[in-house]
Order: sequence, then structure tokens, then C-alpha cells
Amino acid sequence: MQPTTEPLNTRTPIRTTFNPALEDIRMSPIVSISEEARARAKEFEKSGRPFVFFQRGEIDFPTPSFVVEAAKRGLDMGLTKYPKSGGEDFFKEAVAKRLRLDHEAGGIEPAHVVATYGGQEGLELSFKLFKSGAGFSPTWSCALENFVPFAQLDFVEVPLNRDFSVDFDRVESAVRGREFFYLNNPQNPTGKVFSEDELARIVDICTRHGVFVISDEAYEKIVYDGGRHHSLVRVPQDNVITVFTLSKTFAMTGWRLGYVVTRNPKVAKLMRLGNYTQTAGVTTFLQYAAAEAMSNVDGSRRAIATMVAEFQRRRDALFDGLKDLPGVAIDRPAGAFYMFPDFSEFIPRELSGPERNHYVYELLMEHGIASVYGSCFGRHFGDNVRLSFSATPVPVIHDAVERFRRVFR
Ligand code: PMP
Repeated sequence: MQPTTEPLNTRTPIRTTFNPALEDIRMSPIVSISEEARARAKEFEKSGRPFVFFQRGEIDFPTPSFVVEAAKRGLDMGLTKYPKSGGEDFFKEAVAKRLRLDHEAGGIEPAHVVATYGGQEGLELSFKLFKSGAGFSPTWSCALENFVPFAQLDFVEVPLNRDFSVDFDRVESAVRGREFFYLNNPQNPTGKVFSEDELARIVDICTRHGVFVISDEAYEKIVYDGGRHHSLVRVPQDNVITVFTLSKTFAMTGWRLGYVVTRNPKVAKLMRLGNYTQTAGVTTFLQYAAAEAMSNVDGSRRAIATMVAEFQRRRDALFDGLKDLPGVAIDRPAGAFYMFPDFSEFIPRELSGPERNHYVYELLMEHGIASVYGSCFGRHFGDNVRLSFSATPVPVIHDAVERFRRVFR
């Protein structure tokens, strides 16, 4: 073929705006914060002191070995072919059985389960079912920066009260005329675990208004002080969509394994179609290993208990170290592995905008501590900062607390 000789400037210009579903996505500032933290850590560590990474939601535990072994067995068994759309039967059966056991979710059958690539894909597909929705603020940044634009949704944030309690009137006026309410329990970034009563009232409001509830239960097993996480998977209604992941429960963040549960057959069908369209289904030998994680009740309970006990020690070390600092208001997280202190008394009154939003974050960075500023989690908690203790052993937390004491003296 002859190369074209036509000069470039006579051609029709190439499109510079693409589908808004992708163009409108913003990369989470948490990613750029992590990059900045790595760069600043190098500099800081020249002083001979370690840098403290409180910004990440990564876990410093390995995946339990019985799950890893099951993945190898799955490969040896030849589970390397195209998956069944929406999930293999052995996976969905193991999930349904475990949900009935752990959450007393009577009536849950394999047909209610759809396998996804992590909670991330489960949530993305759930959001994509709709055109309008609402959810609490603060909230996990990905919901706002990725799922809302990707689904081209009209989404409204409903602020929690300063103590993270729920204003039900606000929930009610937000869902009126909308299609779903998104809830994350236990919650990232606050560590709040919603009570049974709060959940019942939210479901009741949504049901009265003909609205779906999307319940993101990524941190279902990470609950402290013997407290209980109440899953909405138990609610025998067709307006509830529950999204789970093995990422946090089984320290499997890199495996990308999750699942959606819904008693609504139309929703389950649309999810299967969406999952098939995007990826043609979740890797079969990974589903086999995930089924093993679910079915080995004793092994998984032991692994989870070990992790949660360690997270609780870290939470106590961090909370006890920070709770009396002047100008800092902190709630003791009841679940997940985040703390979301409020610095509004400490930040100079005259500051506003990005300068105010980044004030504490910057100060901590200077002292070798990476955090995430509150404005990443929506428009209502800009004076807060998220601290993750998912990958910081207790001695590191003690060192960090000393630094906080110097900053907030
Ligand atoms: N929901 C929340 C609130 C999260 O914080 C995360 C991960 N950080 C997820 C869902 C999804 O996790 P994954 O895609 O790894 O399953």
C-alpha cells in the first residue's frame, strides 16, 4: 500500500472529547496522594526516621494459605476455560451457603448471586442500573469519582451528622423521586457501623418511596469489640442489592473477587449481562479458590479473627493516642480500618478552600505521616482527615502518635 501523501492539516481533526462516561472520571486524589507520599518518604527517611503510610486501604496480611492452595488445585484441575456468565455454580452455591450461615439470610439461593471482579465491579454494575441516586457523605471516594460519572448519574450527597449519626429527614427528602440510595456498612472513611435500627429505618424510607438500596458491605467482617454487622442481605425484599468482596475479609485485594446478591431476578439478569459484556466473567480457578474460602468455615473464621484482633490493637493504639489532643474530635471506629478525626477547631478560622482542605494533611506530611484529606470523601467533611491503620503495626502507630503530639501540642 502507498503511504498517504496528504498533508496532516487538511485532514478532519481527530475527536478530542470522548464518551463522557469515561471523560468525566477523575482519578482519585488518593492515588496522587500515594505517589506524593512515596516521593516525600524518600526525602523524609534521610533523617533516619520511617515514614508512616496512613493513607492506604491495603492490608499487610497474606491471603490465607488454604485459599492460595485451592487456586493452585483449581489450575491443576484444568479450571482454565471461559467462565459461566454471572459465576460458576460451585461459587454461587458456596456463597449462598455461607450467607445463610453467617447472616442468617434465609431464602438466599445461588440464582441470587452474581460473581464480579471485586466489590468495585459489583458496585459499578449496581450504579449503572440507574439514572439517579443518593448516598451518605462522607463516602468512599470511588463512588463519587468513578461510579457516578461512569454511570452518568445524577447523584446527591446526604451528609451524616457531625457524630456520624443519620438525619432520617434528610435521607427521606433526598430519595424522593430518585432511584437508589447507596450505603456502605461498616463505613469507609468513618469506621461507623450502622445499627440495626438505623438500617431498618433507611430500608423503610426507601421502600416507601419505591427506591432501591445498594448496600456496600466490603468490610462486613471487620467489626470491633464483639460488635455485630447487620447485613441487608437478610431483608427479603426485591429493592435491596448487597455488594460483597473477598478483598478485605480474606486479605485478597489483588485477586479481584467479589459478588452481588439480590432477590430481584431482573436485577440479577442485568448484572449477568453487564458482567458478561465487560469481562465475559470472573476467572474460573479464582472462583474455585474463593468457593474454598467460603466453604472452609473454621479456617476462614480463624484467619479473620486473627486479622481483626490485630486491627483492633491498632485502632486502640491510634484512638487512645489521639483522643485527648486539643482541637481534635475523634469517634472510636466500630468497624473497617479507618479513623476520620475532625480538625475544625484546630485549623485557623481564616483559611478556606483548598488551603483549608489541605492544611492538616500538609502539616502531617511535613512530620512524615501520609493521610487522606476529607474533601476526597465528598463535599461535607473537608475539615476531617482519614487515617487508615490497615497496614501499620502498633509500634509504627506509637511513633506516629508521638509526632501528632508534637504537631497538635
Ligand atoms: N467498597 C468500599 C467502601 C471500599 O473501600 C472498597 C475498596 N477500597 C470497595 C468497596 C471495593 O473493594 P474491591 O474492589 O477490592 O473488592
